[in-house]
Amino acid sequence: MPGILYVVATPIGNLADLSARAIDVLRSVAVVACEDTRTSRTLLSQHGIATRRFALHEHNERAAGAQLIAELRAGKDVALISDAGTPALSDPGALLVEAAHREGLRVVPVPGPSAALAAFSAAGFRSGRWLFAGFLPATRAARRKALEAIEEAAPVVFYEAPHRVADTVADLAVRFGPGREIVIARELTKKFEEIARLPLGEAQGWLQAGPHRRQGEFVLVLGPGEARSGDALAEGTRVLAVLLDALPASEAARLAARISGAPRRDLYRIALERKARAGSR
Ligand code: SAM
Repeated sequence: MPGILYVVATPIGNLADLSARAIDVLRSVAVVACEDTRTSRTLLSQHGIATRRFALHEHNERAAGAQLIAELRAGKDVALISDAGTPALSDPGALLVEAAHREGLRVVPVPGPSAALAAFSAAGFRSGRWLFAGFLPATRAARRKALEAIEEAAPVVFYEAPHRVADTVADLAVRFGPGREIVIARELTKKFEEIARLPLGEAQGWLQAGPHRRQGEFVLVLGPGEARSGDALAEGTRVLAVLLDALPASEAARLAARISGAPRRDLYRIALERKARAGSR
């Protein structure tokens, strides 16, 4: 029987956030593939895990991955971890996981901490959709271009380095306007954790309030913007379809427009077309 590749999430700061299942898996596998074997030694020894460690990082991922695939084929279970959080999420690991799928090997996630999800869950933006944009480019011109390309009305999650966070917040304010909300989440799960939700126009002041405010690890969650008219119309059409079962076209269009924010005129036209189609059946 070939082995199983476990993809195991590890803490993003608070070592107690390693799940009981993750501990079991890390203890029971033949080898733990670590982004940095020294960094992971602290976590593993904290939990009394003595499993063999093997380095897999962005510079050796292909060669190290091939060796791990050979171990899996030989029947050994492997756990993949990164320095912190969920592997393959702005971290190495996807190449190995892809290779495992190609080989027909079983891949089992052991979910847990992720800075993106922790920040989003603590941001409080009500939205069924969100975009994970990872790290923006390091240079200002490329960063501004990347921001121009973001047209999401839904919340957007960014990772950012401490020495760039002030510049990025300034660029976000230029692109999305000072009234758009942002959540700045720094040092999540750690001793000096801070989470601030404020308009982009006030974010710079928050960051400049003390040197510590620009230190540590950051996630930025951009709040939702105005829904684009296309999104509103899609939502309005969906609501309209339900209302048309019980109401005349004009009344259904009026209510659907109020609920979705889509133009009443467009919804009334769609309503008449639907009624006409239903009548001709
Ligand atoms: N794979 C990781 C995950 O699941 O969150 C992310 C790895 S990425 C290389 C590292 C970035 O994640 C940091 O630069 C920072 O933006 C964010 N991050 C990681 N830990 C964090 C923490 N405790 N608080 C805030 N942001 C954090």
